[in-house]
Amino acid sequence: MSACLIKPMQNEIKGRLLENEPLAKYTSWRIGGPAEQLFFPADRNDLVKFLQMLPEGEPVFWMGLGSNLLIRDGGIAGVVINTRGRLKAMHRCEDGTVYVEAGVPCAHVARFCGEQGLTGAEFFAGIPGTMGGALKMNAGAFGGETWDIVNSVEMVNSQGDVIRRNAEDFDIKYRSVNGIENEWFLAANLQLELGETALSQEKIKALLAKRNLSQPTNQPSCGSVFKNPAGDFAARLIEASALKGYRIGGAQVSEKHANFIVNTGLATARDIEALIAYVKNEVAKQQGVDLETEVCIVGQESQQ
Ligand SMILES: Cc1cc2nc3c(=O)[nH]c(=O)nc-3n(C[C@H](O)[C@H](O)[C@H](O)COP(=O)(O)OP(=O)(O)OC[C@H]3O[C@@H](n4cnc5c(N)ncnc54)[C@H](O)[C@@H]3O)c2cc1C
Repeated sequence: MSACLIKPMQNEIKGRLLENEPLAKYTSWRIGGPAEQLFFPADRNDLVKFLQMLPEGEPVFWMGLGSNLLIRDGGIAGVVINTRGRLKAMHRCEDGTVYVEAGVPCAHVARFCGEQGLTGAEFFAGIPGTMGGALKMNAGAFGGETWDIVNSVEMVNSQGDVIRRNAEDFDIKYRSVNGIENEWFLAANLQLELGETALSQEKIKALLAKRNLSQPTNQPSCGSVFKNPAGDFAARLIEASALKGYRIGGAQVSEKHANFIVNTGLATARDIEALIAYVKNEVAKQQGVDLETEVCIVGQESQQ
């Protein structure tokens, strides 16, 4: 019998292990059913140990700041690993690259690189996720994309083995990174150009000001719901379909940015998913364009 047929117990690990924990408070939409088990690793070794103790075949889902996640109301079976506030080491290496662990918020990466006199990471400033989420989503803004500046990454698999990989190992596209199954991002080494701190700081300030003008930053959302189709903008297509302000339950197409869906207070994942389907259908009918979701929709439907 394999040694990993036992579930980890709280006293065997240093991090926090919660049972049946509602995930709404860990997502930027403030929506989401419970995780059967939710684990916040104390550090990298603790995470590896936890993975090694998991029963073979146990479903594992990773989340960072939950800023691109629609977790269905029935929640997530198995284990959810949450890097919020964890895995937050970041330093400049001798070879000039910047080492960033998966739980570091993108905004901190932008600031740290600028302070180090490096340029190329400023676009991270307004992305409200972690490095791990940015690697998985190939997050980007204002012409910059995560994988443009990645030199290599460290992954961990479900047995707790750590593997170094580089871009060639992945299928990297606009807002999607695939090709490797059952491994997750532990850290990245970023390769940046030499720059000037003051210029980076100015750039960051300008990017944030632009974002505040165009996005509903005061309402819970998940950023852009749909990917921009080639040569066009999802927001333009949604606005042209007269969907700004359209509501289903507590979910509403933002009045400020048509590619954002906001939680007006009591939206359920079901409301959001119904609104996503409605918008997709109307845009296809009215504009002849098939929109693809950028937001990751995970978990089980609620039984109620
Ligand atoms: C107001 C607002 C503005 C936004 N603006 C932008 C923008 O300009 N550009 C942009 O690209 N995105 C934007 N987003 C979306 C979001 O911030 C990014 O996609 C971000 O990279 C998600 O990071 P996260 O840590 O929150 O990931 P989560 O939402 O927690 O997870 C997203 C995906 O990444 C996976 N994941 C998370 N951590 C890991 C890991 N360590 N290893 C493997 N997989 C992992 C999850 O399983 C999931 O599939 C915005 C969101 C909001 C709310």
